[in-house]
Amino acid sequence: MENGIHDSVRLLAEGDFTHIADSFANAGFKVRLPARGILQVVSSSHMLRRPRLLISVGVHGDETAPIEMLAQLLAVLERGPHALAVDLMVAVGNMAAIVEGKRFIDADLNRMFRADRGDLASAAEATRADVLMRATAQFFAGPDADKWHLDLHTAIRPSVYPTFAVVPAVIAVTRRDALLGLLGRAGIEAAILNTKPAGTYSAYSAASFGAASATVELGQVGVLGSNDLGVAAVMAGTLDRFMRTGRLEADEARPRVFRVAQELVKQSDAFRMTFGKDTQNFTALPPGSVIAEDGDTVYRVGGESEYVVFPNPDVRPGLRAGLMVVEER
Ligand SMILES: [Zn+2]
Repeated sequence: MENGIHDSVRLLAEGDFTHIADSFANAGFKVRLPARGILQVVSSSHMLRRPRLLISVGVHGDETAPIEMLAQLLAVLERGPHALAVDLMVAVGNMAAIVEGKRFIDADLNRMFRADRGDLASAAEATRADVLMRATAQFFAGPDADKWHLDLHTAIRPSVYPTFAVVPAVIAVTRRDALLGLLGRAGIEAAILNTKPAGTYSAYSAASFGAASATVELGQVGVLGSNDLGVAAVMAGTLDRFMRTGRLEADEARPRVFRVAQELVKQSDAFRMTFGKDTQNFTALPPGSVIAEDGDTVYRVGGESEYVVFPNPDVRPGLRAGLMVVEER
């Protein structure tokens, strides 16, 4: 880890919650540390039905801005732990990759939150996914409460909407509506409803526990300790207020909502996209135009404009090389 990084950021990146755990325990909370990089803080009163909020960061090891943002939030709470008004779980995803400044060690952790991992079952990330899934199940079990999960990322490439979210379509409509309100309040400009579970952490928590979950992209990848947190500041403020009140404020702005029109799955090494890797997320492609070719398979835009998200032709064959979305009207 680099020198010059603030202690709270370094400790969070290393998954060391011992100081924060002591602070909450001394304030009367029930605190669990089920594994390195995972902290659970719940009210010791069984009478209180508080919202349950899971915040995860570092599922991709090179996406460090959310780690810095969360470190700041936790450092403030640590000094005034009584203010916490939600049951809170914090998870640092891929600590081994964070140390190396890489997206992952063996394979993408954010495709592993499912039972069937195919030929990735022996990847280092599979073990970590098991640990995270067990802790998440434990946290979201028990009496009914509103469950929330924000999995915080940064995108590899620039985006027409610098902050956006992927929302599993499986979330119940009323909860989805509340989630879009929270995201809008947090400055998220676009939300993609994803009908295809992709083994992501947020898809898992939504499908398995009914959580209002989202994968949130907060600007671009940067080096730990030197991120520009301007883009994440509105999210930080919103999370801070939610953690202190347990309530959502009335929302003003809502994200533009998109849904997935088609998924580009790389079938072979012959996969070629018709646009550059540096294409911005949410770049519009006109109806009928060719998106990609993969041997005999040709991916084309349908009858209305589609927007490309997460174009990544370098993934392994069998994995998603991009999403095409259309705006909901
Ligand atoms: Zn990511």
